[in-house]
Amino acid sequence: MKKFGFALAMPLIVLLLAVLPVPDFWISQFITIGLYALPCMGLVLLTGVMGLTSFGQAAFVGIGAYASAWLTLNTGLSPWMGLLLGLSITTVSAVILAFITLRMSGHYLPLATIAWGLALYFLMGNLETLGKYDGLLAVPGLQLFSWNVGAGRGFFVFTWAIVLLSALALTRLLNSRTGRAMRAIKNGTQMAEAMGISSFRYKLIAFVIAAELASVSGWLLAHYQHSVNPSAFGLKMGIEYLFMTVVGGVGYIGGAIVGAGITKVLDDQLQVLLPKLIGTSGSYEVIVFGVVLVVMLKFLPDGLWQLVERFLPRSKRVFPTEGSAQSASLPEKSKHRTDDLILEVSSIRKEFGGLVAVNDISFDIKAGQIVGLIGPNGAGKSTTFNLITNVLPTTSGTVRFRGQEIQHLLARDIAGRGISRTFQHVKMIADMTVLENVALGAHIRGHKGSMSAMLGLDKEEEAMLFQEARRQLERVGMGSMLHELAGNLPMGPQRLLEIARALCLDPALLLLDEPAAGLRHKEKQALVSVLRQLQSEGLSILLVEHDMDMVMDVCDHLVVMEFGTLLMQGNPSEVQQSPAVRAAYLGVEH
Ligand code: ADP
Ligand code: MG
Repeated sequence: MKKFGFALAMPLIVLLLAVLPVPDFWISQFITIGLYALPCMGLVLLTGVMGLTSFGQAAFVGIGAYASAWLTLNTGLSPWMGLLLGLSITTVSAVILAFITLRMSGHYLPLATIAWGLALYFLMGNLETLGKYDGLLAVPGLQLFSWNVGAGRGFFVFTWAIVLLSALALTRLLNSRTGRAMRAIKNGTQMAEAMGISSFRYKLIAFVIAAELASVSGWLLAHYQHSVNPSAFGLKMGIEYLFMTVVGGVGYIGGAIVGAGITKVLDDQLQVLLPKLIGTSGSYEVIVFGVVLVVMLKFLPDGLWQLVERFLPRSKRVFPTEGSAQSASLPEKSKHRTDDLILEVSSIRKEFGGLVAVNDISFDIKAGQIVGLIGPNGAGKSTTFNLITNVLPTTSGTVRFRGQEIQHLLARDIAGRGISRTFQHVKMIADMTVLENVALGAHIRGHKGSMSAMLGLDKEEEAMLFQEARRQLERVGMGSMLHELAGNLPMGPQRLLEIARALCLDPALLLLDEPAAGLRHKEKQALVSVLRQLQSEGLSILLVEHDMDMVMDVCDHLVVMEFGTLLMQGNPSEVQQSPAVRAAYLGVEH
């Protein structure tokens, strides 16, 4: 995705192929490859980026094909109206399917898309008006203004223009606010939701875009072949799209194109070669494909794109923070006056089966205060965090933020109100840069959606989001690591990344779960000064930390938990002198 510099060369290659004396056979091969690449690109978005598996792409190809074929044959309207109809039906059915299936996890979506593929196949095959299993014939060709696109070189250029424009739009999408949110969802929704991101919304968008790409492919196919027939849209084809994408590289847009190309060419060549080699005819290519897939998954789990990529010139992505230091910055919320109660936790309780992890805990945080939540491992500190941010539902009790009850709100709405957090077990996107990861924290402060991204109309806002991410990273001392892949960071900087990301939300209350674990002495000192600075800006902080020197140094107030219950609370010296705390927490005898 990052090395799409060759995107500029691709249109030239397509035009060259069209004017050079390339045999017609290959031109038609390339057309088919382009038609396959579109639904596969949808799968890159859905499966590669978001981890959702769909066998239903062929069904959406069918909708695009049948809608336009039927409309042009029965009404005489132009194929462009057919495209519109196909996209409309596709979008509506994708949205309905998404609402039924996307909220459920696990195998529900793949199974539902299989059912969808089967159902649609039989529907196409049984409807009188769609020509039953014979399909529809004599579908008119495409006309672009006065240009008759035809079915030869013209169609080749037309198809590949659409493929390359789609690839460009998707690349932009993946490198946008929307794309970052989508990538945040792949490994679970907790972190994304804590950043104020609705995971369902982005799954829905990806599912619809994937379906629409498939639908466009069907539209092209119908007017290329001048006929439609259910066999091209069955479940087998749905599986094949997934197969092509995985072979090419499900994580890369280029992978969809390479996968479609390799599969189509291999398929044709094997059908000719294998009978010659073996001496009898039969669908042996299916067996060979099966073997190829298994071998590929073993040795090239990221697909063939990995190999292709090595030969491409590297084009470094330029992030909009560079050279535009004076780009406008995001508006900030006004911080609270000191002494107002910002958080009131009243008798919150969490039971896991028989285990009471948090047992009727109550405490307050005043605006501008740093409160430490301490206690031995397993005391219930992280669970308390999860209850405040509603990552876990409370069994009972209330949490008030700025005077309003929040325990019934969704995690993302709590983030939206101004509570942000880090996780004890760092949650970041390993294959995204530090800067992009942190920009995720500023998600709710931006508004540009997928359409703006695909059209390239989000540049100004992107600059502001990255500017903010950079500012927060510099503040935690990570200004020199902006463009490293987050996955390559040692533990300490990973934690700082999470803090910077949490700060990007412009929170009024920051919850830090063991931020100093894995930090070196110097980094800890730097962290302490960052915390003090944040406090001086009016931010309130709830800190879970095992480094007692740091806790005693930085906290105004301490809440001590043991086995889920509140042991005591008070200022650091009171807590330090408490025999009960020493016994429980420090393991010192009374
Ligand atoms: P701390 O952060 O203070 O070390 P936790 O809040 O992580 O403690 O855990 C408190 C207790 O709750 C532990 O006994 C832990 O095993 C249990 N616990 C935490 N999360 C879950 C969960 N999702 N399901 C069941 N038990 C849990
Ligand atoms: Mg914990």
